[in-house]
Amino acid sequence: MTTILEQGNITIHTENIFPIIKKALYSEHEIFLRELVSNAVDAIKKLSMVSRSGEYTGDISNPEIEIKLDKDKKTLSVSDTGIGMTADEVKKYINQVAFSSAEEFITKYKDSAASDPIIGHFGLGFYSSFMIAKTVEIDTLSYQEGAEAVHWSCDGTTEFSLSPSERTTVGTTIILHLMDDEEEYLEPARIRQLIKTYCDFMPVPIKLAGEVVNKHEAPWKQSPSSLTDEDYLEFYRYLYPFQEDPLLWIHLNTDYPFVVNGILYFPKLKPDIDITKSSIKLYCNQVFVTDNCEEVVPRFLLPLRGVIDSTDIPLNVSRSFLQGDRTVRKIAEYIAKKVGDSLKALYRDDPAKYITSWQDLGNFVKFGSLNDEKFKEQVKDILIFRTTAQLGDATETAKVEVQTEEGDAWSEVSEAAKPATDADGRFYTTLSEYLERNKEKHENRIFYATNEATQATYVDLFKGQGLEVLFMDSFIDTHFIPTLERDYSEVKFVRVDADLDETLLDKEKQSEIVDPATNKTRDDQIKEMFETALNKPRVNVKPQALKGENAPPAMVLLPEQARRMQEISALIQQQEMQFPDDHVLMVNTAHPLIQNLLGLSQSTIIGAGGGSSPAGELATMICNQVYETALMAQKGFDAEGMKTYVERSNTLLTKLTER
Ligand code: ADP
Repeated sequence: MTTILEQGNITIHTENIFPIIKKALYSEHEIFLRELVSNAVDAIKKLSMVSRSGEYTGDISNPEIEIKLDKDKKTLSVSDTGIGMTADEVKKYINQVAFSSAEEFITKYKDSAASDPIIGHFGLGFYSSFMIAKTVEIDTLSYQEGAEAVHWSCDGTTEFSLSPSERTTVGTTIILHLMDDEEEYLEPARIRQLIKTYCDFMPVPIKLAGEVVNKHEAPWKQSPSSLTDEDYLEFYRYLYPFQEDPLLWIHLNTDYPFVVNGILYFPKLKPDIDITKSSIKLYCNQVFVTDNCEEVVPRFLLPLRGVIDSTDIPLNVSRSFLQGDRTVRKIAEYIAKKVGDSLKALYRDDPAKYITSWQDLGNFVKFGSLNDEKFKEQVKDILIFRTTAQLGDATETAKVEVQTEEGDAWSEVSEAAKPATDADGRFYTTLSEYLERNKEKHENRIFYATNEATQATYVDLFKGQGLEVLFMDSFIDTHFIPTLERDYSEVKFVRVDADLDETLLDKEKQSEIVDPATNKTRDDQIKEMFETALNKPRVNVKPQALKGENAPPAMVLLPEQARRMQEISALIQQQEMQFPDDHVLMVNTAHPLIQNLLGLSQSTIIGAGGGSSPAGELATMICNQVYETALMAQKGFDAEGMKTYVERSNTLLTKLTER
């Protein structure tokens, strides 16, 4: 026969909070398991503390939590080998502490819960079991000497009963008699999934059907020196299976002025990645809270992955409140600073790795710089760009040289201004190094290309004249260049196809006057020839003599400002940039083709007095061909354009092979 020790009423101030608990203050009933297992972990920790102080001499070498499911009885139980409770403690902690904290929680959050969901759903603790159970029992034996085991039961009203128990092992078992519509929690697969989600890294083994389900070790709580690269990678693969390995990681570890532990990984950034979505997991003392902690991580670091664990982040608050919280802001700043510091350390200690990872890392750095002034300041010296400059194979001294295409014009620059290479032997440089290296040739001007393939002709032209070009070809660079221009206000950023730099022009080849009657120069004639042949009034034909044997016969240029306007309007309309009809056709008067072409067109003028002669037709055709070939570097053809181009190419070749 069971002696009833006590029957009583739980004192509460709010009229019956049970209906509120049951009606799910939490939309996620499932968190009851997290709350019960957290209590069990706490109880186990407390027992080990008591044991360390010598107050308890029993065995604590195999702490564990066991979850049992009984489909017949419709019960779910959570047992721990923790500190246990005496009858007085049950009365105090469960009837009073647990209950009043639940009450407090509910009064505080019941209105906000629906409209502005609470981030953590923490703190309802033990009583959250009433969300899914009609009756809850506690069977417990305290570690204290001479303690008697007790059994507590409550059916979801404010009444409870307390009686002696047969229990002989120190610890606590919580038995939930599930409500009829909560029977999903009798399914082992469901419970396993919940343990994996919420309790995977809790520091005690959690058994289900005799098997340990959780990982029970949290790498972020370990000291960084005890972890190998492989440990970090393994942890990443565990958190994000079937994903490419991360580029690098940062171990966060601080106690003051707030507690933050964690490991953040830099994944490879893809252009299609949703940078507004976070997949960093937030934990509180190894208990999973959410995998969406946009409020805690600075916006620009959202693409990072990994874990942040902090007991200083208020969790029973709405997300909007969290954003304004001072500690949270400080934590976000701390994370940003740590990320910046780690990147700087990597650049300093392992530049090869930094550069190799730059393609992906660079997007973070640029995105961060765009979004956060402090971060921008922090990383400005480690912002690098791929360059056409090369490191000479100088043997005696570590001198660095900029080599031209022909390899004949070496110029020495200081060691500090040397570019460094990535795994494929491509060279990278900072902007200040670039400016330093080129200050004699073109002070305060930076030439850049945004597409290596389509702008190859332009890049080659620059390279051919010993001019260094930077590749600003990542998807973020279009937005980033204006920022750089603001920061380097003295410097002009000129895209290779915008305007030809003075250094590329052959000043000696002045255009002579060929028609004294009209004062027309040869350049004027070339201009006219093209204008007539193309018949495109919006194309501005500009004859110029280019240096270098490899310079092409013609190039289509789009002045920097005009192009930017176009880019901005494309951005606003969320369309691809349309290549504008107004552009410049630079005709290279130094090229033999152009010279021949002028001869050809003139022979027809003299001979037949018009463009309808066979030679005139040919010249017109070639002018168009030259123009369209140059245009190809700027924009692709549509179907019609492609057809015309191919047809004309074939007609031309036919004509040229006629005898
Ligand atoms: P919290 O854990 O936030 O204090 P709870 O309502 O979950 O709130 O629990 C109230 C108290 O009941 C705990 O502080 C603890 O003293 C006691 N308790 C709950 N579960 C256990 C357990 N498994 N073993 C020992 N004591 C427990």
